[in-house]
Amino acid sequence: MLKKFTIETEKENFYNITARVRSAVAESGVENGICVVFCPHTTAGITINENADPDVVHDILYGLDKAFPDRREFRHFEGNSSAHLKASCMGSSVTVIVEKGKLVLGTWQGIYFCEFDGPRTRNFYVKVM
Ligand code: ZN
Repeated sequence: MLKKFTIETEKENFYNITARVRSAVAESGVENGICVVFCPHTTAGITINENADPDVVHDILYGLDKAFPDRREFRHFEGNSSAHLKASCMGSSVTVIVEKGKLVLGTWQGIYFCEFDGPRTRNFYVKVM
C-alpha cells in the first residue's frame, strides 16, 4: 500500500510524522514487513531521531546551520544551496521494520519530516509491504 501525505511547513523545522506513519501501517493491514517513508523534495528530508526532548531538534537544526551556512561561493541560481546540502545530509527516506502490525522503533525514536526551505506545501509517501 502506498499512501501520500501533505504537510504545511515553516521556513525551517522538523515535524514529527510518526503518528501519520503509524496510521498508514495500521491501514495497510501488513503484519510483518517493511515501511518506507520517502520525501520527494530536494530541500527537505526524512530522518529518525529523538522524540522526547525538543531541544534535540533545536540542536540538530543549529548544528546543520553551523555545518552548512550560506556561502557566496555557491553557484546554484535559486540561492538555496544550504537547504540542498542539509536535505542530502538528512536523506530522502527511512526504512522501518513492521512486526506484528507495528513499527519497530526505539522508545525515544520518532520519524521526522525535515524542512529546510519553507514555508511550503510538501508531500511525503509511506509505502508498507
Ligand atoms: Zn534549489
